[in-house]
Amino acid sequence: MQEIDLKNIVTQKINFPLLLEKNIEANVLRLDTIHPEISGNKWFKLRYHLEEASELGKKTILTFGGAWSNHLLATAAACQLNGFKPIGIVRGEKPTVLSPVLSSLVKMGMELVFTSREEYRKKQIPESVEKKDCYIIPEGGYSKKGMEGAATIAGFYKNKNYSHICLAAGTGTTAAGLLLSALPGSRVLVFSVLKNNEDLVKNISDLTGDRNLSPEIIHEYSFGGYAKYTTELTRFMNRFYEQTLIPSDFVYTGKLFFGVMDLCRKDYFPAGSNLLIIHSGGLKGNESLTKGTLIF
Ligand SMILES: *Cc1c(COP(=O)(O)O)cnc(C)c1O
Repeated sequence: MQEIDLKNIVTQKINFPLLLEKNIEANVLRLDTIHPEISGNKWFKLRYHLEEASELGKKTILTFGGAWSNHLLATAAACQLNGFKPIGIVRGEKPTVLSPVLSSLVKMGMELVFTSREEYRKKQIPESVEKKDCYIIPEGGYSKKGMEGAATIAGFYKNKNYSHICLAAGTGTTAAGLLLSALPGSRVLVFSVLKNNEDLVKNISDLTGDRNLSPEIIHEYSFGGYAKYTTELTRFMNRFYEQTLIPSDFVYTGKLFFGVMDLCRKDYFPAGSNLLIIHSGGLKGNESLTKGTLIF
């Protein structure tokens, strides 16, 4: 299994005619390049959990996710790299054909425990699982430790003063970390990929414990909700790739890049803005699209 390579993280300037026209500079922080399976922000969210599990002498790491969960994927890969046994509690009945993500999980040695949606909601650990040795990571890595790990992403851009830091959010854990570590002059712009997720602000401030640290949440680019998409989105992702050679995923980063460009068009950002866009990875999810939808 390939090691995680943080040296691969680069900041890539993007040259879109629209940006030039509006006098906006935009850079993408390529967290997608650290590892083929453990994409972007997920490793940062896991790092302190893994450390704690080790300190506590735990042998097994248990966490929760859906059949396409980047969090399960990252957890399985990180466990393999660090010598833990991973257990994934998966939402829904076992499918007759495993999704590419589920097959990868099995290959990486994760024990999958399928639970009904109803049971899953309660986040109970099925009785068949031996809990004694387990270190438990909350669903999606939503936790203070996850936030603290995500805050270390700032180490890759701290010496530059960006006017806006733009990122995609599911649970908001990564956003909370970047808010905590943001320089006073930077605004953190959070693109929610869930439909009208009104809890996001609360979820973020519950983690930071500071209600004055308020992110700006953008709800307009969820494309109908989590893992929903349109041909407008996939066409944009192809165009974005042609112009920048940056691949994106249709669940998170495609929506983020689309949203940032659309806001540029609408003069949301003042001229002279200097944006940092976080590429949080997640490219594996594109395998659920019909072949040929994307050119990369
Ligand atoms: C999980 C994920 C996110 C969302 O991270 P949160 O910390 O849950 O908000 C963003 N982008 C990608 C690619 C992800 O896999």
